[in-house]
Amino acid sequence: MRVKSDKVAVIGAGPMGLAIAYELILKGYKPEIFEADNRLGGMAASFNFDGLEIERYYHFHCLNDYAFFDLLDEIGLKKELKWKKTQMGFFYQKNLYKWGSLNSVLFFNKVSISTRIRYLLHALRCLTIKDWSKLDKISATEWLKKWLGIKGYHILWEKLFEYKFYNFSSKISAAWIWSRIKRLGKSRRKLVENLGYLNNGSLELINKLEKIIKKNGGIIHLSNPVLCINPLKNGGAIIKSVNKKENYDSVITTIPIPLVTKIFKASGLDDSIIESYEKTISIACACVILKTSKKVTDNFWTNINDSRFSIPGIVEMSNLRELNSHIIYVPFYMPEEHPNYLKSNEDLIKEAWDCIKAINPYLEDKDLISSCCNRYRYAQPVISTEYKKTLPPKEPFKRLYTVDTTFYYPEDRGISESIGFGRDLVRQYFE
Ligand SMILES: Cc1cc2nc3c(=O)[nH]c(=O)nc-3n(C[C@H](O)[C@H](O)[C@H](O)COP(=O)(O)OP(=O)(O)OC[C@H]3O[C@@H](n4cnc5c(N)ncnc54)[C@H](O)[C@@H]3O)c2cc1C
Repeated sequence: MRVKSDKVAVIGAGPMGLAIAYELILKGYKPEIFEADNRLGGMAASFNFDGLEIERYYHFHCLNDYAFFDLLDEIGLKKELKWKKTQMGFFYQKNLYKWGSLNSVLFFNKVSISTRIRYLLHALRCLTIKDWSKLDKISATEWLKKWLGIKGYHILWEKLFEYKFYNFSSKISAAWIWSRIKRLGKSRRKLVENLGYLNNGSLELINKLEKIIKKNGGIIHLSNPVLCINPLKNGGAIIKSVNKKENYDSVITTIPIPLVTKIFKASGLDDSIIESYEKTISIACACVILKTSKKVTDNFWTNINDSRFSIPGIVEMSNLRELNSHIIYVPFYMPEEHPNYLKSNEDLIKEAWDCIKAINPYLEDKDLISSCCNRYRYAQPVISTEYKKTLPPKEPFKRLYTVDTTFYYPEDRGISESIGFGRDLVRQYFE
C-alpha cells in the first residue's frame, strides 16, 4: 500500500498538472512538478503584452464550468469571477451580421427560412441530447449537413471547420461539436449568452495554485522539460529531465500525447506501446493579438466566412473583460506541416489586421497600437469519430499515468475540464 511519503512527479504545469498537484497536496503528498516552459499555465499561461498581463490565448468561462467553480470556491477566488452578457457576430460577404441570438438567426436572410429554423432547432436539440453514443459514430460535417442542408452548412459552418481542421475537417466527431454547442448553449440566462472571466485572467488562478502547492511542500521546476521516462518494475518511473534524474513512485504526465510519444521513443520503450500513442493528431495554433485604439465590433466573438482570410473567427477580449485597451485575438489554426504555419509572425499579423479592417472599414493603420503572435504546437486535438477507441492507455505501466485534454472526450479542451479530469484522476488512483 502506498504511503503519503511516496514521491509523485507531475509532468506539465498547465491547468491539469496544477490541479493534479493541488489535489495531491490535499491528500497529503508533496508532488514535484516538471514544466518545460519558463512559466506556469500551459495554454492558459499569460505574458506581458505591451504593458498588459494577458493570456497568450483567449479564454472565457461558461455557466456550466462546474469543476472550475468548485476549485475557485475552495481556494477563495470565487469573488474574482465576473460575468457579462456577450454578443456574437457573423462576417459574411463583406457584411457584419448579428449572430447567436434567436432574432439574429431568424433575420439572417442569406439562408432560407427553413435553414434558419433548422439551425435553431439543432441548437435546441443539442441541449436535450443526453446519450451521445450515436453522435460518436458519425462525423460532425455529415451531421450538420443533415440538419442544415448543403447550402446552409456551406455558409454557416464550412469555413469554421476548414480553417480549424483543414484536411481533417470531415473526420471530426459529431459528439465533439455537440458538446461544444451545448456548452455555449447552456451558458445563457433568459436566452442571453453570459460568459465569465477572472478579474486578472487565468493568471489569478495559476498564481494561487502555485502558492498553495509551494506552501504545502510541493516543488515546481520551471524550464525543465522531461526528456525520458523509464517505467520501474514495481511501479512509477525514472524521470530524466534537463537537469535532474530521479526515481518516482508514481508519475502523471499531462502533456499533449504526441509529446509523450516522443519522450517514450527517446526512452527506448517498446514499439508496441508507442504505437498506441502515435494515433493522436493535434493542430497547431498561431494566435495573433492586436491592441487597437478603437473597437472592432461590439461582439465578443465574430465568426468569419470570407475566402480572403484563413481565419475562422476573431475574439474581442475587451468586449468581455474590463481591460484598459481594445484587445483582439485572431487565431490561425493549422496542421504544423501546412505552408501557412511556416508564414512569419509578421505575415500572420498583417493578414489578421487586414481581416479586422475588412470587418470594420472605419479602422485605419494608425489605429493599430501593438501586435504579437504566440504559437502552441499541440493546441487542438483532431477528435475523430469513436475517439475513445483511439486513445492510448491511461496507465500504460504501473503507477505511470499518461493523460491530456483528449481524455475527457467528447468535451472539448477547456480549463474546467482539465481541472475536473485531473482532480478525479487523483481521487481515483491515490489514497
Ligand atoms: C487558442 C486557445 C483558446 C482557448 N480558449 C479557451 C477558453 O476560452 N476557455 C477554456 O476553458 N479553455 C480554452 N482553451 C483550452 C485551455 O487552455 C486548455 O484546455 C487547458 O489549458 C489545458 O490544460 P492542460 O493542463 O490539460 O494542458 P496544457 O495547457 O497543454 O499544459 C501542458 C503543459 O505541459 C508542458 N510540457 C510540454 N512538454 C513538456 C515536457 N517534456 N516536460 C515538462 N512539461 C512539458 C507544456 O509547456 C504545458 O505547460 C483554449 C486553448 C487555446 C489554445
